[in-house]
Amino acid sequence: MTKQIVLLGSTGSIGIQTLDVAKTHNIKVKALSAHSNAALLAKQQKEFGAVQTCLSGETPAKLCELAATPDCTVVNAVVGSAGLKPTLAALRAGNPVALANKETLVAGGETVMELSRQNNAPVIPIDSEHSAIMQCINNTDNAINKIILTASGGAFRGCTKAQLRAVTREQALSHPNWSMGAKITVDSATMMNKGLELIEAIHLFGVNESQIEVVVHPQSIIHSAVEFIDGSIIAQLGVPDMRLPIQYALSYPKRLFSTAKRLSLTELGTLTFEEPNNEAFPLLELARKAANLGGNAPCALNAANEAAVRLFLDGEIAFYEISEVVERVFNKVEKTDEIGLDIIEKTEGDIKHCL
Ligand code: NAD
Ligand code: MG
Repeated sequence: MTKQIVLLGSTGSIGIQTLDVAKTHNIKVKALSAHSNAALLAKQQKEFGAVQTCLSGETPAKLCELAATPDCTVVNAVVGSAGLKPTLAALRAGNPVALANKETLVAGGETVMELSRQNNAPVIPIDSEHSAIMQCINNTDNAINKIILTASGGAFRGCTKAQLRAVTREQALSHPNWSMGAKITVDSATMMNKGLELIEAIHLFGVNESQIEVVVHPQSIIHSAVEFIDGSIIAQLGVPDMRLPIQYALSYPKRLFSTAKRLSLTELGTLTFEEPNNEAFPLLELARKAANLGGNAPCALNAANEAAVRLFLDGEIAFYEISEVVERVFNKVEKTDEIGLDIIEKTEGDIKHCL
């Protein structure tokens, strides 16, 4: 059970819910970071008595210092691959990482997992699907046949490719089941979120791309499932509330009481499942391709996506152009079989010239 945390990205959706969990379970908050919202950061520092804070928009290197605070679990709730270096700094210091920041694993999964093993510092997922998978695998002999990664389908589930040409920024930013930060809400709408999560699962659970089936499940009640070699499937269910996987990442392997709404199967009545529409949402297949290419391909894909989503949020491109930009930039950037921090930095730099 975690006693004290360093929370990176405390002013975001996951950050704020993490503070809620910390308050409920008396977890000490030693340090906090935000990118630019100094007023909220100061308010949180006062309320939680954090000894250190960092405004990463001004002093990004300080994130790594905070992440190395002795004897803390580092909750990484930063958005984007800016979260990679502090994750590595935490693991180098032997700190467990409760990871919401999936881009860290997409860009540098090999480096992260290797450091985790070397320093005996676990990476515990906060992402609800991966928390579910971890819970399904617990107490089994790990004889996994495949992972069933569920997806809500995002804001535009059921839309055709032609219909997507007319959707607005506002529609893309309204998710049917979860209230989240802007980038991940757009990623859910393009299905890139599931592509990123597929690569995240490969690193966390040591499976390959072909062992992950993506199933669209619009109710977001089954957070994911695992099929074992005997054909038995274990799933994890719960109401869509991120405080549950956040709490589990901090109490793991124990469970703590929660006041969250309980799930009533009879109230629900029906759960439904569909295949993903790869024609309208091509980024999931592109993520499979990047995962199989390996090397710097997943990093290139993630960087191309971060750039395209930024263009969309800034009003520079339309929704349907996101996947076009990602595909074009991904194909253009130079690929290598190797991966490491220097290659990640070079790839991310190259992306800017391929836009
Ligand atoms: P958000 O946009 O609400 O918050 C992001 C936080 O990171 C903020 O505190 C912001 O100040 C900080 N930040 C932004 N840019 C930064 C940078 N360049 N360097 C350092 N800090 C920076 O995002 P969110 O929805 O809380 O998501 C955070 C991460 O968690 C993302 O990787 C997302 O994919 C993942 N995640 C979120 C949810 C969710 O429900 N929100 C669920 C699963 C996974
Ligand atoms: Mg998720």
